[in-house]
Amino acid sequence: MSEANQNTQQMEFQTEAKQLLHLMIHSLYSHKEVFLRELISNASDALDKLRFESLTNPKLNDGSEPAIRIKVDKTAKTITVSDNGIGMGREEVIENIGTIARSGSKAFLEKMTGDQKADSNLIGQFGVGFYSVFMVASSVKVITKRAGSVEDAVVWESTGENSFTLSTGERQNHGTDIIIYLKDEESEYAETWQIKNLIKKYSDFIAFPIYLPDDKGSDEVVNQTKPLWRRSSSEITPEQYEEFYQQALGGFGKTMCTIHNRAEGILEYSSLIFIPAQAAFDLFSFERKHGVKLYVKRVFIMDNCKELLPEYLRFVRGVVDSEDLPLNVSREMLQKNAVMERISKALTGKILDKLKEMAENEPQTYKEFWKSYGPVLKEGLHSDYANKEKLQELVRFQSSIGENADDLVSLKQYVSRMREDQKDIYYITGDNRQIVEKSPHLEVFRAKSIEVLYLVDPVDEWIINDINSFEGKQLKSVTKGDLDLGELGKEEAAKQKKEASKFKKFSERVKNILAESVEEVRVTSRLKDSPACLVAGEHSMGAHMEKIMKAMGQAIPKEKRILEINAEHPILQNLNARYEKNATDPELEQWVTLLYEGALIAEGQMVPDPLAYSKRINEMLAKISAP
Ligand code: ADP
Repeated sequence: MSEANQNTQQMEFQTEAKQLLHLMIHSLYSHKEVFLRELISNASDALDKLRFESLTNPKLNDGSEPAIRIKVDKTAKTITVSDNGIGMGREEVIENIGTIARSGSKAFLEKMTGDQKADSNLIGQFGVGFYSVFMVASSVKVITKRAGSVEDAVVWESTGENSFTLSTGERQNHGTDIIIYLKDEESEYAETWQIKNLIKKYSDFIAFPIYLPDDKGSDEVVNQTKPLWRRSSSEITPEQYEEFYQQALGGFGKTMCTIHNRAEGILEYSSLIFIPAQAAFDLFSFERKHGVKLYVKRVFIMDNCKELLPEYLRFVRGVVDSEDLPLNVSREMLQKNAVMERISKALTGKILDKLKEMAENEPQTYKEFWKSYGPVLKEGLHSDYANKEKLQELVRFQSSIGENADDLVSLKQYVSRMREDQKDIYYITGDNRQIVEKSPHLEVFRAKSIEVLYLVDPVDEWIINDINSFEGKQLKSVTKGDLDLGELGKEEAAKQKKEASKFKKFSERVKNILAESVEEVRVTSRLKDSPACLVAGEHSMGAHMEKIMKAMGQAIPKEKRILEINAEHPILQNLNARYEKNATDPELEQWVTLLYEGALIAEGQMVPDPLAYSKRINEMLAKISAP
């Protein structure tokens, strides 16, 4: 703090910033080298911002080549990272690296585990950025001048403990110098070869030249500057793609898929899209941003360009570089822009095609993909009508043939292994595999070896109506409507018809008893072992959807369902006999109510009045006579 002048002002860091700095200085010991990556990334952002702002205000730019310059002084143990980017004014300095903890930092603090290695990794994931310099610095000085401002340069200095000082200083042109005074024990970083290695390792794909003095002291560019997406994919190694994903896109972990493309013709653009191997932690949060950056003629325009891809592909990261959009494109302009719409359409198609290819050629990878992103991709069936067919081929479900939750089936595969004479595709919805697997509605399907899809993701209830049919086969819920298995259920249907007349009067009586709860009572053709089950009308919502809506706080009118009874079951035979003997048997009411409650429980629902239910059971049990 030697150069403090008269107008030096001391200010306190805001609490969260203090916490973060404290951690940086006292708790994180591994991966310290990432400080350089963070500073270079900030410098690159500042150059991007200048380039973008000077599109509309050319006076901002002083005409010098946008670049990052790094100098190392071994004797003084300092590293200086300079850029001629946008720079910061006094208020910006206070806001950006002073009082306020950025949102990334907040998320970082929340995710801290106390485990060294995991926490150091988090630095990369959240880009806590600037403050990470205090892992290696005993003090830091920032000299910065805002482009287009007449203000003096601002000098910010701090040791990272509680406070920083602000004063005015000298800087010829716009941009920022960050001077790092290394801690004694970190002086190994004050070596040019070290810095060069770190640039190669972490910042090779930064889109601006990074200059470093060579052996003779003259500046040389040490990174690759031609944008990777502009090169031919045959020149690029898988390692380079991975590095680009991590360095230029700030991607975390590895990728499971790379889609690199150049379109020429009506539309001209390059795109480089990655699917991360690991889903982002905020994939389902409302503020989730898209991970695609928009460039126009190699000029960075914006991060997270929502207009480039539909919501349901929000898990990808990448770059799109268009030749057709104007450089001064604004967010408002992008919203109903014909070029954007065409790029978005083409890109969506490319991604879906690639997924199809993955599903066919790398089933194991596709399984991983589906585990991470299946629920998100399924949203597309509801929102992207144009790609309905492609999406239908990509969806996977659990099913009654699969041995466990990992055993998935596509609609195509389902159809290919349908039984001869089977007309429809059957499914059941529910909370989880354990519940639907035991549902009485599946009894006849099991007996006849007919596969049933298990739809156990809440979003399935919505998308199943959007699918409706596949390859000419209707999708039918096993818990709705009158079951018609056609040829396959001929025997059951005949039996049902016969029993229905035998049980006609009894069914009416049951309907009377349960008038408040059921719409109809009829003899079933879908049960083998259970005495009764409940089915919804062909076009009604169904019990599971009702449950979901209720959980979401939606008021929905209660729909009465149909009670189907198994005429071959001893309980029903006995009850029918009792009824025939005495149509007004007072106990009949209790038995029938229990039958209904049992059907509710069997499908994982609650009985409406648990107290009355247990009382009923106890009364029945009390009638057991002593031996
Ligand atoms: P992040 O980059 O994730 O926002 P940082 O802590 O790294 O968080 O940086 C905080 C902010 O400080 C940046 O968003 C930017 O506004 C400003 N900043 C940092 N470095 C520079 C720089 N070299 N030039 C201009 N602004 C910068």
